[in-house]
Amino acid sequence: MNYNILLALLIIVFGVSCDSQKTVVSTAPSAPPMVLKKNQKPKNIILLIGDGMGLTQITAGMYSQGNSSELERFKCIGLQKTYADNDVITDSAASATAFSCGVKTYNNAIAVDKDTMPVKSILKYAQDNNMSTGLVATSTIVHATPACFFSSNKSRRNYEEIAVDMIGSGVDFFVGGGKKFFDRREKDERNLISELENDGYYVSHFAEQDIQELTPSLDKKFGYLTADKDPIPVSGGRDYLIPASKMALEYLDAKSKDKGFFVMIEGSQIDWGGHANLLDYVVSEFIEYDKVIGMALDFAEKDGNTLVIVTADHETGGLAIQPGSTMDSLKAAFTTTKHSGTMVPVFAYGPGANNFQGIYENTEIFEKMKALLQSEE
Ligand code: MG
Ligand code: ZN
Repeated sequence: MNYNILLALLIIVFGVSCDSQKTVVSTAPSAPPMVLKKNQKPKNIILLIGDGMGLTQITAGMYSQGNSSELERFKCIGLQKTYADNDVITDSAASATAFSCGVKTYNNAIAVDKDTMPVKSILKYAQDNNMSTGLVATSTIVHATPACFFSSNKSRRNYEEIAVDMIGSGVDFFVGGGKKFFDRREKDERNLISELENDGYYVSHFAEQDIQELTPSLDKKFGYLTADKDPIPVSGGRDYLIPASKMALEYLDAKSKDKGFFVMIEGSQIDWGGHANLLDYVVSEFIEYDKVIGMALDFAEKDGNTLVIVTADHETGGLAIQPGSTMDSLKAAFTTTKHSGTMVPVFAYGPGANNFQGIYENTEIFEKMKALLQSEE
């Protein structure tokens, strides 16, 4: 037997592994990707969504900070197709429904299918497994991306209805903007902050104290509202994403004990920089989010039993880096103030990360995560 044949046989028997945790045995190339061994399943899942974070946004952010990004630490990389059920160009609602619930739906849909029937999110499946759950965003907490994990609504614009869905959601930890949708509502007189307190939450907000002054008690669920409406850009002084993300990981890890946790942390405003066609806005939001990615990887490396997935919901702006650029001075061109239809990258690290290689539908992010939930057989 010559060396090449031996090598080919070894690859067939052992699979090509980019999972740094341990050698994964038995994944022949033709095996169905959803067949997983118990020991491949992570305890915790950290899902990081850079809204509008396409490959060019990543490239621009990486070049702008000395040709370096935390994303270079990943070895398992794939691509996902972002199109919606009714449009090649997805919005953040249809795409978040796809990766949170596993269904292709129409633009504007919050965790409902194309017939407006509610569908169940990965966060709810995690709760079925007694995992702790959390959501952190630099948009309002009722904005499309986080909303698709705890709410179902036929329209992303029904912010007050989406806020009501936080009551009884069981989400252990949430941080984001949009206080007015909780306590200064237009459609009714309800004070959802009081209702959350009655539902076992400690709730605070930007007008009371800085989040960094808080130490959440494990006896209560935790909610913190960072702005009345949309939080400001990081370049304008927003500074809660990193401490809130650190707090989320520590709180959920301590609270979940052996059951594990699921958390989604969104860099919401990379998208807003794309809509505004402002490269500096895109890059500054990416650079902050890159630190969150690094923090999640540090946690996962230390923990050894945590899966980190980083992806986007879609690309925004049709961004290109133009001839005449230098790494210090990028010349950007945008082709639209809307989203574009390009595939977006998926980066995975930890137990089960192998499953995120390849080219697949955005709905498969949900399928892969669900198959990896610990007690899911
Ligand atoms: Mg978003
Ligand atoms: Zn957008």
